Amino acid sequence: MTLTLVTIPCLKDNYAYLIHDPVSGETACVDVPEAAPILTELSARDWRLTDILITHHHSDHIDGVAELRAATGAMVLGAAADAHRLPPLDLALTEDSSFSIGSDFARVIDVPGHTVGHIAFYFADAGLAFTADSLMAGGCGRLFEGTAAQMWSSLSILAALPPQTLICSGHEYTASNLRFAATLEPDNPALIYRIDRVAAARGNGQATVPSTLSEELATNPFLRPHQAQIRASVGMPHATDAETFAEIRKRKDRF
Ligand code: ZN
Ligand code: FE
Repeated sequence: MTLTLVTIPCLKDNYAYLIHDPVSGETACVDVPEAAPILTELSARDWRLTDILITHHHSDHIDGVAELRAATGAMVLGAAADAHRLPPLDLALTEDSSFSIGSDFARVIDVPGHTVGHIAFYFADAGLAFTADSLMAGGCGRLFEGTAAQMWSSLSILAALPPQTLICSGHEYTASNLRFAATLEPDNPALIYRIDRVAAARGNGQATVPSTLSEELATNPFLRPHQAQIRASVGMPHATDAETFAEIRKRKDRF
């Protein structure tokens, strides 16, 4: 038995996630853009929230934490490094921390770049990675605090997870991310196929997350700086992957 995953649209284009262990009844929420849609989902499923997991300090990921905590009594877990700018934490996490939801152990992965204290949660048994604004569907987060080198190293760690891992990211930005990707790799068949599927999903009002790591590896330009067509597109045939990544990130900012 493994964790049940529920994707919850919040605000304009954010996502929160619930994970539920049917054996113990433990339920965690990853990021809380707003409390109301999460409370609605919990009561519809008759789940009791036990844990609130925070990926990073931006308001569109934490604004609902206080209300959700007050309504459920759940424990709040987030990065020790960012404790000064997160809601009060019951458990301050480092990469050495481990905790579990039911019998599924979570690994805490430091993924600086978008912010310096950004963390991801990886549940190996369930094959779930909560990456928020680090690795995103078809893209990656903007570099508000960290460097391109930090983000590249964060993405490289995530890219090495098992390819069937579900990447649960923080926003519905996929269509525009893939439009940018197509400017770099117009002939990538996996990318062309994904663009069609994402357009169909959005046309039906469906979320394009989670995605699988394997589709990110095949289509997300931020995981593909080694590809010849991408290097040619940015005019950097002899650069390192990290340098090419930095140039792709700059171009996306202007896209
Ligand atoms: Zn953010
Ligand atoms: Fe965000």
